[in-house]
Amino acid sequence: MEIDGLQLVWLGHAGFKIKKDGIVIYIDPFQIEEDEKADIILITHDHYDHCSKEDIEKIRKDDTIIVCNEKTAAKIEGNKKIVSPDETIEVLGIKIHAVHAYNIGKEFHPKGYGLGFIVEIAGKRIYHAGDTDFIPEMKDIQNIDIALLPVGGTYTMDAEQAVEAAELIKPKIAIPMHYGSIVGSEKDAETFKELYSGRAYILKKGE
Ligand code: ZN
Ligand code: ZN
Repeated sequence: MEIDGLQLVWLGHAGFKIKKDGIVIYIDPFQIEEDEKADIILITHDHYDHCSKEDIEKIRKDDTIIVCNEKTAAKIEGNKKIVSPDETIEVLGIKIHAVHAYNIGKEFHPKGYGLGFIVEIAGKRIYHAGDTDFIPEMKDIQNIDIALLPVGGTYTMDAEQAVEAAELIKPKIAIPMHYGSIVGSEKDAETFKELYSGRAYILKKGE
């Protein structure tokens, strides 16, 4: 999809490509068909469906900057910038805020294990929630243009919980993710869209 010249492409699962003014950013590329080289790659955590060495190598060039936490950095090669929750860095004029992403009452993602990101590019704020449940820190995630929220359940929020999160964050546009390959189905994305009172778009892979 395209908003004010900013291109956002769903690559399947939790993977996205963001492109604006010639800068190419990937988040959690996994089993991607794209081969356009990345200027920045954001990796939310070290699980194989988010931190895929094979996919990273497909799009990495000599000067690609990879933004991730310390645990993830230990598993991948390249030019890495390490961030922790509540930290903000600037890469190629783009502000990247790392935020918490964790489970409540499940052990897959303890607090501190992974990250979500808010990417500020060309005046737009895009929130990628990572693998997370509906967590109290989300109340501080505001003024979001596009929120990418997991809906697949099991390891993350399910559709109903993602609706609660979206109602709190109130993004201009909410996009469901983390379904369709490992957990969750298109039906979860549709449930999310039906229940959410704001604008939700279901992206097709590659769109
Ligand atoms: Zn995970
Ligand atoms: Zn995951």
